[in-house]
Amino acid sequence: MAAFEHFKQHVNSAARLLNLSDAERLALEKPDRILRANLTVKLDDGSTGTFPAYRVQFNNARGPYKGGIRFHPEADEDEVSALAAMMAVKCAVVGIPFGGAKGGVTVDPKKLSARERGALARAYVRAFADHLGPDIDIPAPDVYTTSETMAAMLDEYEQIVGTSAPAMITGKPLSIGGSLGRDTATADGALAVLDALLEDEKLDAVRLTASVQGAGNAGAQAARLLARRGAAVVALSDSSGTLADPAGIDVAAALAGKEAKKEFAAWGAVGGVGNVMETDARLFVPAALEEQLTADTVGALRAAYVLEIANGPTTPDADRTLFARGVTVVPDVLANAGGVTVSYFEWIQGRTGERWELDRVTDALAKTMKQAYREVAGFAKERGVSLRDAAYALALSRLIEAMRARGRV
Ligand code: GLU
Repeated sequence: MAAFEHFKQHVNSAARLLNLSDAERLALEKPDRILRANLTVKLDDGSTGTFPAYRVQFNNARGPYKGGIRFHPEADEDEVSALAAMMAVKCAVVGIPFGGAKGGVTVDPKKLSARERGALARAYVRAFADHLGPDIDIPAPDVYTTSETMAAMLDEYEQIVGTSAPAMITGKPLSIGGSLGRDTATADGALAVLDALLEDEKLDAVRLTASVQGAGNAGAQAARLLARRGAAVVALSDSSGTLADPAGIDVAAALAGKEAKKEFAAWGAVGGVGNVMETDARLFVPAALEEQLTADTVGALRAAYVLEIANGPTTPDADRTLFARGVTVVPDVLANAGGVTVSYFEWIQGRTGERWELDRVTDALAKTMKQAYREVAGFAKERGVSLRDAAYALALSRLIEAMRARGRV
């Protein structure tokens, strides 16, 4: 099923909990604007490549549009729209004053050189510049885009508008106004939520076994932090394969191996890509792409806890099965909101010219994430619903309140 349809199902459950009218529910399901372009880029071999690109501006009732841009072969309008909607929910869950947006370019970035990726980033900004800006729509990194991508985008934007505008994009390199702590923020935020959950459940991280799917920016950092807390990371995968050891793998060595050889398979991964989900571990951390836990795969999951660092890793079918089985799923819109939270801190720094110290960022992040967790967990307990339904209900109530205040519903 398509990603945006999944989002609508989550909205439906939340709308029932909130007793929203049909008109209000429909207003929460409609993107404000879908921007499309074909980006043309001169390739290194002299030919010209054309790549479909999207920016979906979902809702700005609570503040300017905000959300990352991904470069991925499967990025399409439906996926980008669903991710844009999830950004609006995410910002409302953690209470930061942004709306939701997302961008995507349909491209396999692994087939491009660094120069070609830079040219693509600049072409993206040229296509959508009229709709971007510190008070309009603020992009950030996402799957296969990095701080270098953001630097190229900022530079192109500033050349177009002719002024300095560091707050038009987040996830920048430190040298041009990035924030300390932004690179590790998604995983740091997720682990702050996990800490609060473990505290609630009177569980000790040292006795936890975990399997982590994905060793990109967020997955690698999550594995590091879990190991640092004394948990045994019994499986860690990337798109090439899975490293597994029931006694706990040496995360630092595994990541160094990946760094040297580019992928686990070349370094000595064991098992297939799918195995990471079936590993006997108390906690499963999906930190790769969408739709990993589905009606087909959920039966094999052994974990009691799922911490969704990826966006949309669980389909609504699988979600219902997990809830019925008593598995606690910390939903993406809460678990991975640390990235956009530190983007907010970066945006404040860009606007005020302040430079925050790392401690200030990490403390403010942990505080924001733990408070959001407590609000969501409190609602879930009170109403007997899943953490996902609770997170959506809380977020949508904030969103609808802002839309009402503006007379939009
Ligand atoms: N791409 C990240 C996300 O999905 C971060 C977005 C941002 O910082 O704006 O949450």
